[in-house]
Amino acid sequence: MTILDGRKMSNIIKDEIAQEVQKIKEKGEKVPHLAAIIVGEDPASQSYVRSKDRACKRVGFESTIINPPATISEEDLISQIEKLNRDKNIDGFIVQLPLPDHIDEQKVLMLIDPDKDVDGFHPMNFGKMALDLPSFIPATPFGILELLKRYEIPTQGKNTVVIGRSHIVGRPMSILMSRKDNPGNSTVTVTHRHTKNLKEICLNADILIVAIGSADFLTEDMVKDGAVVIDVGINRVEDANAKRGYVLKGDVDFEKVKKKASFITPVPGGVGPMTVTMLMKNTLLARQKHQK
Ligand code: NAD
Repeated sequence: MTILDGRKMSNIIKDEIAQEVQKIKEKGEKVPHLAAIIVGEDPASQSYVRSKDRACKRVGFESTIINPPATISEEDLISQIEKLNRDKNIDGFIVQLPLPDHIDEQKVLMLIDPDKDVDGFHPMNFGKMALDLPSFIPATPFGILELLKRYEIPTQGKNTVVIGRSHIVGRPMSILMSRKDNPGNSTVTVTHRHTKNLKEICLNADILIVAIGSADFLTEDMVKDGAVVIDVGINRVEDANAKRGYVLKGDVDFEKVKKKASFITPVPGGVGPMTVTMLMKNTLLARQKHQK
């Protein structure tokens, strides 16, 4: 069994990006610039945006965080987005989700310039991804592809089961694993809350990708010997003995499932660090696009 070390791999990729930035600087050109709009004070979102800011500094990007209050009107948020769309200094930006209830998430995401949409959530990018055209790939699925690629895990002709069909993880992951590409070319089953016989379906999987948000959901009796197990879940589970009062757990019962898996991602330290790193990669790609 091999543990897919997302921390190690993301450090390697960040070093590669930093080298690219160094070359850009040596040519006296503008370094990539990522901006993030984060509405309100949600602690999980704040911590995620801070980790993006740290990653930008680590690779040598410029980083801007815009943090309007949760009471911002939809109209004012839209004008912030339009400003970033026009700003030639910004290569890419993200709008951290979730947004407050009074703001229409889809309407807002649609207004991001697709060429600056480094999260890859705009229908233009999502559609291009489904059509095998070059596009920004959402960072978490992009990170999973990169782990599969760099650990040289074969996917062609394999049965891939994705649990969860969210627009940011499960759905794009299922599309990417079925694309005519490497990684890809696998036979994909997408499962969700209404799936019947989930255990039976999982037992047929060579590659299992779990993204549902339920701690320890995937148990060893659902996993075939030698399967590749990718755990996307990040769940805070209360633990009085832990310093912060909680521990982070994935959607996979790691200690038991690892005995059956050929490759497995831990939580933390698996998919999570790859996500932020692939956002950096998308920002570098956006900058290259704008230079052409
Ligand atoms: P979501 O809540 O948007 O979607 C969950 C999906 O899981 C839904 O499609 C639902 O039908 C399915 N589901 C829920 N319970 C199920 C069950 N019992 N059986 C089968 N399917 C079930 O979630 P999301 O945004 O995709 O996030 C999923 C998890 O991944 C969360 O823990 C989240 O924190 C984590 N996440 C991690 C990263 C990362 O970088 N590691 C990125 C995004 C999300």
